[in-house]
Amino acid sequence: MPYRAPVNDFRFLMDHVTGFSQVAATDRYCEATPDMTDAILTEAAKMCEDILAPLQRAGDLHPAHLDNGVVRTPPGFADGYKAIATGGWIGMSANPENGGLGLPMTLTTAVNEMMSGACLALQLNPLMSQGQIEALEHHASDAIKKLYLPKLISGEWCGTMNLTEPQAGSDVGALRSKAEPNGDGTYAISGQKIYISWGDNDFTGNVCHLVLARLPDGVPGTKGISLFMVPKFIPDADGTPGKKNDLRVVSLEHKMGLHGSPTAVMEYSGATGWLVGPEHGGMAAMFTMMNNARVGVGVQGIGVAEGALQHALAYAQDRKQGKAPGTGAIIEHADVRRMLTTMKADTYAARAIALMNAVAIDMTSATGDAGWKARAAFLTPITKAFGTDVGIDVANTGVQVHGGMGYIEETGAAQYARDVRVTAIYEGTNGIQAMDLVARKLMDGGEAAFRLLEEIEQGAEAAKADHPELSNAVWQAAETLRETTEWLVDQNDLNERFAGAVPYLRAFARVLGGHAHLASAVAGDPSRQRLAAFYIKRLLPEHAGLLAHVREGADDLMAITNDDLAA
Ligand SMILES: Cc1cc2nc3c(=O)[nH]c(=O)nc-3n(C[C@H](O)[C@H](O)[C@H](O)COP(=O)(O)OP(=O)(O)OC[C@H]3O[C@@H](n4cnc5c(N)ncnc54)[C@H](O)[C@@H]3O)c2cc1C
Repeated sequence: MPYRAPVNDFRFLMDHVTGFSQVAATDRYCEATPDMTDAILTEAAKMCEDILAPLQRAGDLHPAHLDNGVVRTPPGFADGYKAIATGGWIGMSANPENGGLGLPMTLTTAVNEMMSGACLALQLNPLMSQGQIEALEHHASDAIKKLYLPKLISGEWCGTMNLTEPQAGSDVGALRSKAEPNGDGTYAISGQKIYISWGDNDFTGNVCHLVLARLPDGVPGTKGISLFMVPKFIPDADGTPGKKNDLRVVSLEHKMGLHGSPTAVMEYSGATGWLVGPEHGGMAAMFTMMNNARVGVGVQGIGVAEGALQHALAYAQDRKQGKAPGTGAIIEHADVRRMLTTMKADTYAARAIALMNAVAIDMTSATGDAGWKARAAFLTPITKAFGTDVGIDVANTGVQVHGGMGYIEETGAAQYARDVRVTAIYEGTNGIQAMDLVARKLMDGGEAAFRLLEEIEQGAEAAKADHPELSNAVWQAAETLRETTEWLVDQNDLNERFAGAVPYLRAFARVLGGHAHLASAVAGDPSRQRLAAFYIKRLLPEHAGLLAHVREGADDLMAITNDDLAA
């Protein structure tokens, strides 16, 4: 389906809103000059528009399937993957020692968004590899790094993450997969994993599974879990894939969307695995991969939102219905314009938040500064949940803009809505993200949150002269958010926080979005100013209702009985 990469937005947000110049000023990322950044964005955009976007529909119409135990991927996916791999897009931010380009995550984030907007089902494959690469860089032995990283980075092999089991979804600690020491430094891995994205394919030389399992002396819960590298084919010392390992794809799930991505039930029957990180320290290692993937999944939502917006806009410019002024197309009707502008303003806000998050990740890597680290950690669940919620809302509104044709598959509007739905579920549901935000991410007494709020208020002060009305609205919203954050930090009973976790996360995202739109109004042309005014006057006020919800706490919610719900 046609897709035009939003390169101008990336450039503008990097230059004027997210503080990317700080990243480019560090020794570590000094190569990320404006010229280099431009070249990367332009080159990636070209691949996404010309090669990946035409595969989006094929993935939906010709789902990945199992053929005599062999996974077959949709037509064209192998070539699309080759373009991603040979372009160097998988290992963009990976360590140059292993063949990566060592570029900032901010650039990877922009490129990942473009790839997701062009073809989400295929993009999920390199996203999994990117997370695995980062986990291995931080936690694997030198031998594993040497053997696996160059091939994962080049895309010759790809990676998966194996956490979920039938009884262990959000509750990863309930997993039952076992690891038995073989006595030669390797382990025998047994158990069943479900919903494994890209559990196999027909275009890479190997598939490297990172599997969570419990050693015989592992205590129950997350503290007794270890992480293992379990390749489909066991490589020799030179990295040539040899004997097939004792693992197989049992079946592929029939899903609501994302049909091009094979989602596998995997069976491990004493498969040979190698420990990654310390024994019983698997969750810490897996968290490196999960945090990477959480930002990546948030960005998937934003990419789909962009694709759905472009699709709806093209339709609204063409479809004539009713007595519309101007061009006579439905885009001229106030309600259709409201839908399209909401789609655009929200996509922009979510994109700005994801890039702010990526800048914080880069500054952490470049400086090791604890403040940047806390900021990146605080923003990660917001990027994930708000990015994917926006993806879902925008794709649904895109269907609405199409009217009846949105419900008819051939327009492609429905595919965006079906494909993106899972992004709010996998990589930790958005509910789990929000609970992480109000519990772990406020464990610092709210310091990271208050620092962000201070910055938002400073931004509002600076915008006061040119945009008094918008600046006042953002400042007031930040104040209300500060008061509610103080209230949350005071709640020692976590259930009081959890009851309002989802509305709190959304309110924080709303206010961050207001901050980004205001900064865009200050630095941008009248077009960006009009979009900012729409967001700040019409979408930002949602924060007040959300925060009122948060401050109600848990009592009245938990007083509603199971019988009340069934009545
Ligand atoms: C297409 C697809 C691809 C996937 N890819 C992968 C993959 O590659 N690797 C992998 O390991 N997994 C993968 N998953 C699994 C995914 O991460 C899980 O589905 C997800 O973590 C939720 O687990 P669950 O499905 O068991 O839901 P449950 O954990 O049963 O959750 C059901 C509901 O209860 C809520 N809930 C659960 N526990 C709590 C709690 N403590 N407090 C409050 N609310 C709670 C949840 O938020 C949710 O709304 C994939 C899933 C899908 C559908």
